[in-house]
Amino acid sequence: MKKKIILVPTLCVVLPVCVLLVNTFRFTSEQIQIEPIQPVGVDEGGVAQHLSQALRFQTVSYQEQGRTTGEEFLSLHKYLDQTFPKIHATLTKEAVGNYSLLYTWKGRDENLKPIVLMAHQDVVPVELGTLSKWEQPPFEGKITGGFIWGRGAMDDKQNLLAIMEAVESLLGQGFQPQRTIYLAFGDDEEVGGGNGAAKTVELLRERGVELEYVLDEGLAVTDGILPDVSKPVALIGVAEKGFVSVELSAEVESGHSSMPPRQTAIGILSAAIYRLEERQMPAGIEGATRQMLETIGPEMPFGKRLVMANLWLFRPLVERILSASPGTNASTRTTTAATIIEGGLKENVLPSRARAVVNFRILPGDSIERVISHVREVVNDPRVKVNRFGIIASEPSPVSNADANGFQTVQRTIRQLYPDVLVAPALVLVATDSRHYVRLTNNIYRFSPMRVRAGDLERIHGINERISARDYAGCVKFYHQLIRNSAQ
Ligand SMILES: [Zn+2]
Repeated sequence: MKKKIILVPTLCVVLPVCVLLVNTFRFTSEQIQIEPIQPVGVDEGGVAQHLSQALRFQTVSYQEQGRTTGEEFLSLHKYLDQTFPKIHATLTKEAVGNYSLLYTWKGRDENLKPIVLMAHQDVVPVELGTLSKWEQPPFEGKITGGFIWGRGAMDDKQNLLAIMEAVESLLGQGFQPQRTIYLAFGDDEEVGGGNGAAKTVELLRERGVELEYVLDEGLAVTDGILPDVSKPVALIGVAEKGFVSVELSAEVESGHSSMPPRQTAIGILSAAIYRLEERQMPAGIEGATRQMLETIGPEMPFGKRLVMANLWLFRPLVERILSASPGTNASTRTTTAATIIEGGLKENVLPSRARAVVNFRILPGDSIERVISHVREVVNDPRVKVNRFGIIASEPSPVSNADANGFQTVQRTIRQLYPDVLVAPALVLVATDSRHYVRLTNNIYRFSPMRVRAGDLERIHGINERISARDYAGCVKFYHQLIRNSAQ
């Protein structure tokens, strides 16, 4: 009897510990083992010069409609014509929408589904007042200190030019791809892609094209950024978040501020925003984020590996840790960000109206409709009107399969060129042009072959955008090998 009394509690402790340990030891690396290859030789200085030239064209997308820089796009096109003569002699080039480009490189086997390599020509403007903070001017393409500097060096002319370099060089070797390859370069990605990527997709759809896979910008090789992983990690976006903004407005009788009601329009609105910030949409470790944790987890030190291998038990803990910082929080939930607030004209007048805009980035699994009903439920105040705002809105993408040929080809290419780089699927927190392609294929991957180190992420859309000449040559090698690997 006594023995039993001791045995039961001992078993209660030992058994779960055994389960945790067994799970941890079975949680082994998923990295594919592959023979490294000798990458193609690339003239680092020569390709850097080409990118530098391309950065000088001020192909800026402005939010205000009608403010165009058409001449700059046409000059960029002319520059591409001159710089890549073999491409222009061999591939078919079509202009789409305003200034978007679609190149078709016919494959030898018409039975194989084509692939699309994407990049965008446009860049975001340089924010007024930040110009003096640039170490090198944003539109001169300076090459100094081993870096190529300028707006578009990381987003996204490096991909555009690297794809062109790779194709030009393959043509020089007499290479013809097995499957057809489209090169699709939008001109309005930074303002939604409605004229470029959307029309390109429409064109391909009319032609009955079915795609093997699409590769666009998105994530990159993170180096020293992910905590608890010592090796660089190439994150391949298998899904991206959606986007919707909601306008809240409160309308009341205006009057003199000497006899105010308990809440003015501003107070009513502020309380609504406060409630939205307090009651965020729920966190969850699902889909692309879960796949990322499960792929990176085995590479972590023992303690973290034990946690990741046992999400059935530690999920609330992991969710809490991820929710604590904005970067990781955004991977686990639909985020809420109040971005505009307006109301009131004069200090002694009660405003009759106040309005605010709240921007939501929607996690795959949620939807625009669910966001709107969440807002109505949480605001829960008949004095506050809730409406959708703005012309840009997109549902979150489906999650592409990490076992499909496209993902495997990108992964194989990375591991062949950089055996020390781990590869993992992940969620893209921003919108890319590739979302328009969901009408053509389920296999959409979002990855730029550049390295991103601490402090580099802020350069994208920020100041001092630059890429190292060595990394850029690596981008060319990547596309070169990817195209070769895409034959099967
Ligand atoms: Zn971009």
